[in-house]
Amino acid sequence: MLENARLHTESGRRHFLQTVLSSAVVGVAAQAGIELTAPERLSAQSNLSPDAALQELLAGNQRFAANQLTSIEHDLTILKERTASKQEPFAAVLSCADSRVPVELIFDQTIGHIFVTRVAGNIVTPEIIASLEYGVAVLGVKALVVLGHGGCGAVKAAMKADAVPGQISSLYPCLRQAVEQSDGNFDKAIEANTKIQADLLRTSSTVIRDAFKGGKLKVEAGVYDLATGKVTLS
Ligand SMILES: [Zn+2]
Repeated sequence: MLENARLHTESGRRHFLQTVLSSAVVGVAAQAGIELTAPERLSAQSNLSPDAALQELLAGNQRFAANQLTSIEHDLTILKERTASKQEPFAAVLSCADSRVPVELIFDQTIGHIFVTRVAGNIVTPEIIASLEYGVAVLGVKALVVLGHGGCGAVKAAMKADAVPGQISSLYPCLRQAVEQSDGNFDKAIEANTKIQADLLRTSSTVIRDAFKGGKLKVEAGVYDLATGKVTLS
């Protein structure tokens, strides 16, 4: 933590632009009567408990939703140097590829903090499982969140089951169960999909299942609201 605090201080000195941005954030917070708390600095996070890892993610999302980002204060040059030889992310996220869901940003995290896999519809595929297993077994992430989002085009397309070009329809089978559970309700399908994919991870991956059952990993599902910026666990 001491190192992290030092990093934070250096960051403030070295980067005028970042300082200006931070000041702007503080100014906005002050106007809004919000007291900014000192951000917890995480560089190596492998000693976090699963609960603490999930809380860190959700706390980051609260900062984002409140327009109180702290990740922009990190000195990216120092972070890059420190993470060049290894990564120690504390959480993993399976997100949709949608451009409106920039995962690090909405959880107020930066280089080396979260292990992110993305695919349209945030669906579980063998390649996604392999990637997340690496995150769990080798990198030691403590929390895993399947993150859907409002207005998801993949879910919408699967609900309509329209003819689409190329291989887009290859997503449909993965989303079918959620569509069936939705009673035609778009938001319900999005939320159901996150739960279904999280369940799939808990059961179809031996690595994730064992870590989950052994209490070494939290596996959660959530939905990101495009308008409010808030993530709500499903
Ligand atoms: Zn989407």
